This record gives sequence, C-alpha cells and structure tokens, in this order.
Amino acid sequence: MTGQKKTIAIVGAGIVGVSTAVWLQRDGHDVILIDKAGPAEGASHGNGGVLASCAVVPVTTPGLLGKAPKMLMDPDQPLFLKWSYLPKLAPWLIKYLKNANADDTRRIASALTPIIGDSVADHLALSEGTGAEKWVHPGDYLYVYNDRAHFQSDAFGWEVRRQNGFEWEELEGAAFKAFDPIFSDALGFAVKMGNHGRITDPGRYVKDLARHVESRGGRFIKAEVEDVVRDNGQVTGVRAGGDTIPCDAVVIATGVWSKPLAQKLGINVPLEAERGYHLELWEPSMMPKTPVMIASGKFVATPMDGRLRLAGIVEFGGIDAPPSRAPYALLKKNVLAALPGISWRKEVEWMGHRPAPADSIPVIGEVPGITGAYLGFGHHHVGLTGGPKTGRLLAQMISGRTPNTDMSVYAPSRYQDHL
Ligand SMILES: Cc1cc2nc3c(=O)[nH]c(=O)nc-3n(C[C@H](O)[C@H](O)[C@H](O)COP(=O)(O)OP(=O)(O)OC[C@H]3O[C@@H](n4cnc5c(N)ncnc54)[C@H](O)[C@@H]3O)c2cc1C
Repeated sequence: MTGQKKTIAIVGAGIVGVSTAVWLQRDGHDVILIDKAGPAEGASHGNGGVLASCAVVPVTTPGLLGKAPKMLMDPDQPLFLKWSYLPKLAPWLIKYLKNANADDTRRIASALTPIIGDSVADHLALSEGTGAEKWVHPGDYLYVYNDRAHFQSDAFGWEVRRQNGFEWEELEGAAFKAFDPIFSDALGFAVKMGNHGRITDPGRYVKDLARHVESRGGRFIKAEVEDVVRDNGQVTGVRAGGDTIPCDAVVIATGVWSKPLAQKLGINVPLEAERGYHLELWEPSMMPKTPVMIASGKFVATPMDGRLRLAGIVEFGGIDAPPSRAPYALLKKNVLAALPGISWRKEVEWMGHRPAPADSIPVIGEVPGITGAYLGFGHHHVGLTGGPKTGRLLAQMISGRTPNTDMSVYAPSRYQDHL
C-alpha cells in the first residue's frame, strides 16, 4: 500500500468502474461501488466482447465528411440518425467532425494506444485470482475484406496502426479459406492480428469482478448518484436519493451518463451517445474460429458462451429514445451474407450507448481544484478493451503514485474552460 488508506466511492459499475475498484482494493483502500442499475447493466453488458487493441483508429478519419451523408441515405450502411435529434446533436457533431483529418486521426490513435494497446495482458492481470479469469480468451482478431483492393481502400487506417506498433499477417484467397473455411467466397482477404482476444460473456465477466470486490470487503450500493459533496475543495461524500454516502475520494465512471455529474464538478465534456446494437444467435450451426470484423458491414461477430454475438452499428439519437428496428435487420442480412447457410435456435436483441467524447479520447484523471474528484469515462468503441488499464491508472493516481504513462492527454482539465 502506498500512502494513506482511503474510502473511495466509485460511481458506475461498468468495466471502467469495476476495474478501478479491483485495483484500488489491491492498493489497500476501502471501496464503495455505486450503480443505479447494478454491475454491467450499461454498455459493458452488450458490447462485442473484442479485446481490440489495434482499434486505435477512431471513427473520424479523413474522408468521413464526404462519405457520411451517402451512408445515412443508404439503409444497407451501418450509420443511422434519428433526424429529429439533429438539432441537439449539432454542436457535438461539429466538434466531432473537425477531427476527421489525418493529423487529428494520428493524434487520437497515439493517445489511445497506451490505454488499449496491451489489453489481453491488462485483462489477465485484472482478473487474476478473481474467479473472472475464465471469461478472458487470448487469441487472434481478424478484419475480413472482400479482396486486397478492398483492404487497400483502408490503407490510411492500417498505416496508422503500423505507426503505433501493430503488426499483422495477411491471409489471401486459399490461405484465408485454410484458416477458417466458413466464410462466403465473396470474402477473400483477411488481416490476422495476434495478441488480441475476447471476453466470452462481457456482462457476466464484469458481474464476477464486482462480486470479487464485494467478497474482499467492498460495498455495493444500488443508487443513483446526483452530486459530489465537497468541503473546502475536498470531496467528503456523494449524494444519492437524499442521503450522503461519506468518502475521501470519488471516481465518476458512469459511461455515457457522465456528462451531468462531470458538469457539476466544472468539467464540460462534449459527450454523445453513439448507440450500438447486438444480435445474438444462440446455438448457431457454425462459429468463426476467432472474433472477426466484417469490414463491408462494419460489425463484429464474436464467438461467445453458447452463442455468436453480432455487434456494431452507429446510430445517433440520444440516450432516451427506444431501439430502432432497422439495425437488427441489417445485422441479420449481413451475417447471412458473410456466413452462408448459418442457422440458429433463438435470437437475443440489445441496444446500448457508447460514451463518445467529441475528440474520441477518454477523460481520465483528477478534476483540477477539487481534491479527491476523479473522472474515468468516454471510451467510445473500445471501453471493454481499455477499461482495465484505465482502472489501474486511476488507482495509481489516487494512491499517490505517478503512472508510467503521460496522463496529460486524458486530463479533465482540457474541458475545464468550456463552460
Ligand atoms: C454495440 C456495441 C459494441 C461494442 N463492442 C465493443 C468491443 O467489442 N470491444 C470494446 O472494447 N468495446 C466495445 N464497445 C464499447 C464498450 O462497451 C464501452 O466503451 C464500455 O462498456 C464503457 O464502459 P463504462 O464502464 O465506461 O460504461 P458502462 O458500462 O455504460 O457503465 C456505466 C454504469 O454507470 C451507471 N450509472 C450511470 N449513471 C449513474 C448515476 N448517476 N449513479 C449511479 N450509477 C450510474 C450505469 O447504470 C452503468 O452501469 C461496444 C459498445 C457497443 C454499444
């Protein structure tokens, strides 16, 4: 244990909050996990399960501005917008699209690499001795293209990955068929990334980690936190349902719901919900060998416990609107094209919210001017991948150690003046 033993309230029991709790407990602190719904009831339940270390290239890449309007008009493209939401979305969207250029894409990728670049090792270290290790499966991750020309149309993204230290093997034609013969003949090229992996039930994984925290003396409280209580610039508690829960420090890890709580601490993050969908095919007649990203449909198909989970789609429409139907139909159409002849016993549908800051870089660190207030949210498409590292970094900071990572790029202070 470094420094003083503290009582730390962690608000939000998704992968980020639970990882933070595990590492804080290992540092000898008392932790209180607080969630309005329960562990892993947000995005951490339904994601694609891919430990996608190489996914450092954000959605905002050069050329997006030209492509997006056409994609929105085409029902076969995985981009959807609830048009009535556009006026609310506009201020965030303008900031977001400003990053769709080569320099900002490179800047974002090099900021994401330290958080997600070694995810399998981070998950193995996190889960060791918790009972949740069984859900972590190291392995390959495949990006599947129609052909080499299709792969080359993504050349910029692959160049950025290479610059950040990622290497891969290219499987073309017969080599891809030999690796995994279940895909359609229309898919003739794959990029195989080693040292990746998957979680075979993301929701149960996070629940098991939370259970481990409780088994080691941590408290879980089901409550909606409304504010952080302070005395003379020092955190003294959190307020939930009229009660104050005393603590020495707080971590706001509430995913897409973080904006109002951060705002109360003087940090105004341009944060949107990037709605995403999954469709699970239970007891499928075939399973890919590894998690795959089908590039043409921009969805992942991940082998999970008893089912194949298809996950993807970007839809803008805010946090409160109910799921749309079209994304499920598109996921089904795309999987039938990629895996001809696949059948299954039953389907499970889910929609959730990726916490998307306009600059695609998570907010991790202490709130300037308020001792003991920390933020950890905004992991966009890669929160499962980067949650364990984020939790470890936050635990180091709270315990008074200096992380071996330059934290300035993630600092909440970058949004302090935006009020
Ligand atoms: C379709 C889809 C596919 C994805 N696929 C992948 C993938 O393959 N790999 C990957 O790395 N990432 C993936 N992601 C992204 C990933 O799921 C998220 O980035 C990650 O789960 C965010 O974790 P979190 O802990 O920040 O938030 P969440 O898991 O959303 O947790 C936030 C928690 O805060 C609680 N909460 C909110 N407000 C309050 C409050 N006021 N008081 C108390 N509790 C509160 C909520 O109940 C919730 O449990 C995907 C996302 C989607 C939607």
